[in-house]
Amino acid sequence: MRPEIVGQRSETVRRANLSAIVRALHAQGPLSRSELVAQTGLTRSAIRGLVGELAAHGVVSERPPAPLGVPGRPSPLVRVSSDRVVVLALDIAVDSIAVALVGLGGQVLDVERVDRPSGHLAVDDTVADLAELTARIRARQPAAEDPIGIGVAVVGVVRRTDGLVSIAPNLGWRDVPLGERIARGFGTRVPIWVANDADLGALAEHRRGAAIGWDQVLFICGDVGVGGGLIVDGEPLTGTAGYGGEVGHIPVNPTGAACRCGSAGCWETEVGVGMLLERAGHPPGGHREQVAAVLDEARAGSQTALGALDETGRWLGFGLAGLVNVFNPELIVLGGLFAEIHPFVARTVEGELDRLALAAPRQLVSVVPSILEADAPLLGAAELAFEPFLFDPARWLRVDGGRRLASA
Ligand SMILES: [Zn+2]
Repeated sequence: MRPEIVGQRSETVRRANLSAIVRALHAQGPLSRSELVAQTGLTRSAIRGLVGELAAHGVVSERPPAPLGVPGRPSPLVRVSSDRVVVLALDIAVDSIAVALVGLGGQVLDVERVDRPSGHLAVDDTVADLAELTARIRARQPAAEDPIGIGVAVVGVVRRTDGLVSIAPNLGWRDVPLGERIARGFGTRVPIWVANDADLGALAEHRRGAAIGWDQVLFICGDVGVGGGLIVDGEPLTGTAGYGGEVGHIPVNPTGAACRCGSAGCWETEVGVGMLLERAGHPPGGHREQVAAVLDEARAGSQTALGALDETGRWLGFGLAGLVNVFNPELIVLGGLFAEIHPFVARTVEGELDRLALAAPRQLVSVVPSILEADAPLLGAAELAFEPFLFDPARWLRVDGGRRLASA
């Protein structure tokens, strides 16, 4: 950064610089001051001042790294204090709900997931169950600070501005003001951010999972339905209101089955859990245990199970070929059901991509299973809740400072 800009010492510059430091530490873990200089482009003295300010508020601390047996004194590492700034992450999936308390830096301080019967569940019951899980976790973590925000992943189509779930076919919800309902149910006034589970899965895989360091990423998550999330130029692609990425409802089969969204022949009717079970001769409506049973049968050499997986893989590759042509991603991350069946379908999927996608974008894309697995949306919800703090930590420092003065 040019000296005259540092010289301005304007509030705007200071806030942007604090944000750059906190973001780097949150995303990459402990860094030395020299590494922070290299990462942010700030001067050594600016880093010293700003790190000192963050340390005074307990947001970061400086400690020597663990000795590695090398002579000389290793330079201290700046690290975030993960119990100082925490968020609450909630995940509402088709057949389970989860709550996590997550500290700055992405450290999961505590997490609990419980299975629930899949089917149409009332919003109020869901919110009450989430509040109960949250209370349990807070009781186990008395030392953690109050969360600065709540992030919510939900298996539905969500308007980002106010957390309205426009439709969640697999929960039976329509036009549910979920953010509002959670605020009321939890009796809280902290900011609540709601987003689609696959969008948040993409965000989490990009920051913490299989897609770290990749900037053009397509995340596809299979379950009863199929969700998709896109990272374009390193940023989530949400569309005008946040409704984007609903790849599961791309029509792929003109003679296909009716879809829960009201249409027919959507991609998820061909690659979702229901059709896999049907092809494998299992009763529809079954879920995780049934999928596990199909995989066991396939491992034991059952031709029906292997055939069902292969057909699902074929439809998976068919849809992915179209998405590769439209978005030209570098990486496709398969989550949920698709991660589980990946070992059985990888060859078919790759073969369909070779056969159907345009050669140039096809050559540039790799397909990998998710690393974060079922927790990807939950961890993405935490990232969503951290975002306002990462954008402007100075605002939080001011509020925190005020609170300390008031309590002094
Ligand atoms: Zn549909």
